[in-house]
Amino acid sequence: MGETRRADGIPLILMYHSVSPYQCDPYRITVSPVRFEQQMRWLRRLGLTGVSVRRLLEARHLDSGRRLVGLTFDDGYADFAECALPVLARYGFTATLFVVAGRLGGDNAWDPDGPRKTLLTADQVLRMANAGIEIGSHGLRHVSLPSVTDLELAAETATSRDILRRISGQDVAGFCYPFGHADRRVIGTVQDVGYDYACTVESAAHAGRHALPRTYVGDADSPPRILAKGMRHWLTRSYRGPGAERLSDAAAIVLGKRSKRSGSG
Ligand SMILES: [Zn+2]
Repeated sequence: MGETRRADGIPLILMYHSVSPYQCDPYRITVSPVRFEQQMRWLRRLGLTGVSVRRLLEARHLDSGRRLVGLTFDDGYADFAECALPVLARYGFTATLFVVAGRLGGDNAWDPDGPRKTLLTADQVLRMANAGIEIGSHGLRHVSLPSVTDLELAAETATSRDILRRISGQDVAGFCYPFGHADRRVIGTVQDVGYDYACTVESAAHAGRHALPRTYVGDADSPPRILAKGMRHWLTRSYRGPGAERLSDAAAIVLGKRSKRSGSG
């Protein structure tokens, strides 16, 4: 294989929310199905495989995760079942779905100015789990955790996991901080109650296994733009993990060729 690099550094994990046709999207949480398909096709073309965070971390532990990229979907939108899962299945990819355990079958009430988006029901979460998707916890109510009491924090972390374990039949190893908000107390609690890992957003002050930074992907992200983000991740975090060589090869190709079709939005 000629692998000379060690798989250290922080792995590349992409962050999605909703995949759906849309008209209005003030929080920029929606990627159109056409764009999503294009992004997945492009990962495949680079020789990369999208996987759950759990699988990514296991593979890296065994020193075998070089061609893997983590795919995560926050909030557990119902459109995942219809618009994302079939595409993932077509490419042989999996993903992690971070579900809001206390709002199953409800909507994204925490985004007051955005359009209502329906969340997966308990039955649908089970179906996603049975389809090979990792179920992780996104808390109980989707609140900013640094400002809640210790008692509430216990419910948001431990109780949400109990609910999702019961519903999905999975162990529920991962947690994802709502709004990416986390401080030392919150991260410590997530670790203490026994989560194996946790995800945050790009600017992670406490980066580590319980604050894994992720790369936001939006509808404006053409493959060359994701590439630029991947390169930035690679450079800023001494990235040596999955796809690093391919990313740099691809960067050379894109920068050299100057695709006429890039940058359309
Ligand atoms: Zn969220």
